[in-house]
Amino acid sequence: CGIIGVVGETEETAAVDVLLDGLSQLEYRGYDSAGIALANTELNVHKAQGELEALESAVSRPALRGSSTGIGHTRWSTHGPPSDANAHPHTDADEQVAVVHNGIIENYQALRDELTAAGVEFASDTDTEVVPHLIASHLAAGDDPERAFRRAVDRIEGSYAIAAVFAGEDAIYGVRNESPLVLGLGDDASYLASDVPAFIDHTDRVVYLEDGEFVRLGPDGVQVTDADGTRVETTVETVDWDA
Ligand code: GLU
Repeated sequence: CGIIGVVGETEETAAVDVLLDGLSQLEYRGYDSAGIALANTELNVHKAQGELEALESAVSRPALRGSSTGIGHTRWSTHGPPSDANAHPHTDADEQVAVVHNGIIENYQALRDELTAAGVEFASDTDTEVVPHLIASHLAAGDDPERAFRRAVDRIEGSYAIAAVFAGEDAIYGVRNESPLVLGLGDDASYLASDVPAFIDHTDRVVYLEDGEFVRLGPDGVQVTDADGTRVETTVETVDWDA
């Protein structure tokens, strides 16, 4: 269970490289499967069962270097066996949103039943997959991505670090509750990860998120807010990770 995300790019590093290289630093957190989603006009989702190597050989890095926004995940499965279908990121049927998640959504069965009754077809056995479908239902009701994300998170109970990207938007939405999530602040890019080593090659300026905090990473930087949407003052720390 490791998350990495990036918005923005430096001259020598495209998002796909940040994600795949970052995941290799997080592989100790789980290697049932790995996956990435890059945001452009459309989402580009790739995932593979097994260690990161399997994902590396399934994707062409050069073909994906046109996108500056993306999320990635290595999985330590709790709900559903290791498989391609259960690998993160998970999406809604129309691939409007892609979601990665660490932790456990305790009330997923009730949400899954509710969504199934509303006509949603699930593609995996994971607890996580309720999240993209909840988000999509709010998008369908007219919410913008940020509001749809917040309203979906409002419905879930359990432990989670979640990151989501939307088709057509250069942004990542994140939230945490009882699972780690840390921001990295670079000059030309912003990062989000379960742990600092995932992005330490790019920046050593970090913000540790607290439980219940939401974050939006966009081309103009990072905003941290509480559940009501009120801006939270953050402390930027400089980490010394060579030790
Ligand atoms: N509960 C989720 C799953 O089984 C996330 C597991 C993780 O933290 O990697 O897919």
